[in-house]
Amino acid sequence: MNSTSKTDTLRAIRANILHCQGDPDDQPSTSNPKQALEYIEDGVLIIEKGLVQACGPSTSLAIPDSAVVHDFRGKLLVPGFVDTHVHYPQVDVIAAYGTQLLDWLERYTFPAEAQFNDEQHATSVAQFFLDELLKNGTTTALVFGTVHAASVDAFFTEASKRDLRMICGKVMMDRNAPPTVLDTAQSAYEDTKTLINRWHGKQRLDYAVTPRFAPTSSEAQLALAGQLLKEHPDVYLHTHMAENTDECDWVASLYPGHQDYLAVYEHFELVRKRSVFAHCIHLSDNAWKRMATADCSVAHCPCSNLFIGSGLFDLRSAQKHKIRVGLGSDIGGGDSFSILRNINEAYKIQQLQRHKLAPEQAFYMATLGGARALDLDDRIGNFDIGKEADFLIVDETATPLLKRRTQAQDNWYDRLFSLMMLGDDRCIERTFIMGEPIVYPSIE
Ligand SMILES: [Zn+2]
Repeated sequence: MNSTSKTDTLRAIRANILHCQGDPDDQPSTSNPKQALEYIEDGVLIIEKGLVQACGPSTSLAIPDSAVVHDFRGKLLVPGFVDTHVHYPQVDVIAAYGTQLLDWLERYTFPAEAQFNDEQHATSVAQFFLDELLKNGTTTALVFGTVHAASVDAFFTEASKRDLRMICGKVMMDRNAPPTVLDTAQSAYEDTKTLINRWHGKQRLDYAVTPRFAPTSSEAQLALAGQLLKEHPDVYLHTHMAENTDECDWVASLYPGHQDYLAVYEHFELVRKRSVFAHCIHLSDNAWKRMATADCSVAHCPCSNLFIGSGLFDLRSAQKHKIRVGLGSDIGGGDSFSILRNINEAYKIQQLQRHKLAPEQAFYMATLGGARALDLDDRIGNFDIGKEADFLIVDETATPLLKRRTQAQDNWYDRLFSLMMLGDDRCIERTFIMGEPIVYPSIE
């Protein structure tokens, strides 16, 4: 681990601790899947130099005399949430009325993104965006910038000031959009290379090669995206796929001769581990199979899929093929920063398909599963010793309704489900980054 904390303060946090020790779907069929979660009533988390030093019951884990103690007894302590797909430049088009994907991009998104060649504007949006993420309990995210390199510089500068674990990239987009948000195949290649050299692996930051989606990149640009991955094998690939049926038809007409949408990305060698595809709603079983073989990841974006009317994600197929799936808010196609709100909608999306999203599976996708989808589970996602201490204090009684509902429940498992259905940013009492409590200017 190469990360360092801002201070060397030894801290002990006392609360009811909940985290995942594995994927509930991987539990032996004879055991209860909720055993993938560890719940410690009145536990202690000890943090040294920003990393987890110990985690266990208060009755058996001694708190060192030199530790600063944070007493949150009765509250829930969980790992920070992971948002596997979000657009920071779209904060100001959230909750825009009346369109589906392709019209939504034209009418709202492209004009908003055009403003990000101004680094000052980008900085002020990045500051608001990061405060809002932290206030909602999201401590790591895979983030779209805009086509402008300045948007990524502004984002990483702000994330670096807050010592956050974040992944971001400049959008590559050289056709089928207004000139104000277009680059060229070559300029995208050069700008991306410069940004990778400037930011990838710096502090807790990583870079993602980010073609918006197949329709807005020429074949030459996608080929150069593939070349960037070859030249920098440990960077991410972040894009959209099969979100909307009109989009899928458009890809078929722009890229004739390919078997399906995934085949376009395969052709340019963009499908591998550390490739994250947002949405993946309209996929064949054959495509799921090929994704499993390539070991790429999916960002499921429930609020967005409902808000812009894209469709119902087939979680059952993803599970059947053992695809790594994280949750994405997809701001501003999505209408909530809250991963809890996204879990709520994810549950209903599965209900409509006669499939159950179990509380342990939803909690896993929001934490350790999200970290695995981003290939960051050696750093974050649970409280294994040595992991980076990004975590949340959650108040399960934050609203009168939640209080009424959870006080009637005598076990943590039922309370967890109620929290996920009724909770939002009001339940996130405190966010800690690398063991340090965060102050968010917007609420304090
Ligand atoms: Zn998106």
